[in-house]
Amino acid sequence: MRKKIVAGNWKMNLGKQEADQLFDGISQQLSKESKADVMVFPPAIYLDRLVQKNDPTITIGIQNFYPKEKGAYTGEISVAQVRNIGATHVLIGHSERRAYFQESNVLLKEKVDAALEHDLTVVFCCGEPLMIREMNQEMTFVRMQLEESLFHLESAQLQKCIIAYEPVWAIGTGKTASVEQAEEMHAAIRSWILEKYDANTANAISILYGGSCNAANAQELFACPNVDGGLIGGAALEVESFIQIIQSF
Ligand code: PEP
Repeated sequence: MRKKIVAGNWKMNLGKQEADQLFDGISQQLSKESKADVMVFPPAIYLDRLVQKNDPTITIGIQNFYPKEKGAYTGEISVAQVRNIGATHVLIGHSERRAYFQESNVLLKEKVDAALEHDLTVVFCCGEPLMIREMNQEMTFVRMQLEESLFHLESAQLQKCIIAYEPVWAIGTGKTASVEQAEEMHAAIRSWILEKYDANTANAISILYGGSCNAANAQELFACPNVDGGLIGGAALEVESFIQIIQSF
């Protein structure tokens, strides 16, 4: 049975006190009966202090890391270090990393392998830019992203991954994918996993939607049969909207 998940990507936002307030607010308002697993991806500089809060209801992950064990990579954070401070999840393949930091499918594959080797759970982002959707090439494009970075894994490894479909044209734009567009892509991703692996694997993997998901549209998106939750950017920066999204299940 795949998990329902709501994950907040805080990106490069919030001061130390604001990060504390947001985390504590979510922690206090999160119902014990929450139907969804809740994750946050704060800026790396706050990871340790948030992990130290020891809240078992909120999973903490890092937004980025370098796929080497250790060494002369000034400014980078290794997977071993992420694991060592007690974070358990990693975001890989976010469109902002692909666009602004030229992260290729090849590098992302390396990151996926490094994360799994250190027993970190991968939240793997995929999604097409607007130009690709306008050419009706979104299926081919997203499939290629998955083929080149994720589908080399064995079934057991893939089952340690969560996929987030995030159409680039919907991220931070206020323009959400329609329920039909989201469900169509999520169903396609699940069918590719079925085709390459098996029904067990296809049914075990949570596929999240991301792209201007908010308290007003989460309920209809999460009601889609193949949408298992959301990766939330802007609306994850306020306790109230993030909690409302979690309660949309
Ligand atoms: C994201 O960056 O993963 C995201 C979905 O952002 P937003 O919700 O702001 O569109």
